[in-house]
Amino acid sequence: METTKFQIPEWAFTFHGHKCPFMPIGYRMGTLALRKLGVERCKDHEMHVFSEMGVGHPQGCMQDGIMSATGATFGKGMIDKLYYGKVAATFWYPGVKGAVRIFLRNEFQDKLAPHEFFDYRKKGIEPSQIPENVCDDIINMVLTATEEELFIITEIPDFIYKPVKGSFAKAKCEICGEYVFERYLRVIDGKKVCISCAGHEPDEKVSYAPTYKKS
Ligand SMILES: [Zn+2]
Ligand SMILES: [Zn+2]
Repeated sequence: METTKFQIPEWAFTFHGHKCPFMPIGYRMGTLALRKLGVERCKDHEMHVFSEMGVGHPQGCMQDGIMSATGATFGKGMIDKLYYGKVAATFWYPGVKGAVRIFLRNEFQDKLAPHEFFDYRKKGIEPSQIPENVCDDIINMVLTATEEELFIITEIPDFIYKPVKGSFAKAKCEICGEYVFERYLRVIDGKKVCISCAGHEPDEKVSYAPTYKKS
């Protein structure tokens, strides 16, 4: 059987900075999400991505692939991290009913794990310092795998998400004098102050958390 190889534009590797397997995994995830939702790569503020990545594990490169494929970038505020420590993401697009969650199969994670690429990584060698043929070989595993081999796709028809309404309204913090966008002002002793002057933790996580029931 002839294997078809998935194509990733070279600029995505340039943007990401090195050759690793997880950026391509994210790119494939994002491409699949666009198709499942029946939408195009977004230009503005359409696709919202809820990445289940956390910190302290090296698969976060996936998110650069997702951003490249979907146009839902961190800068546009279209990707949020849930800190669940899983190689998964949920994709939501306004006007499309429900959302789609894509998880990188345990079996595929197990298939990648023994690759020489990770012997280098475990010795603390950065991807750009790993021999190119080793990087190309593991990327090839990602590009030649079928979607069924790679992913578990879950449709979430009752996914509810209300994006925060954008606003240009800002005011000066009454302590440091710096401009703050209004929703981030806190009131301390009757004064409108910024989060750093208030000594508060940002409470963004609460207002951004998507709600969905798993079937
Ligand atoms: Zn990477
Ligand atoms: Zn301040």
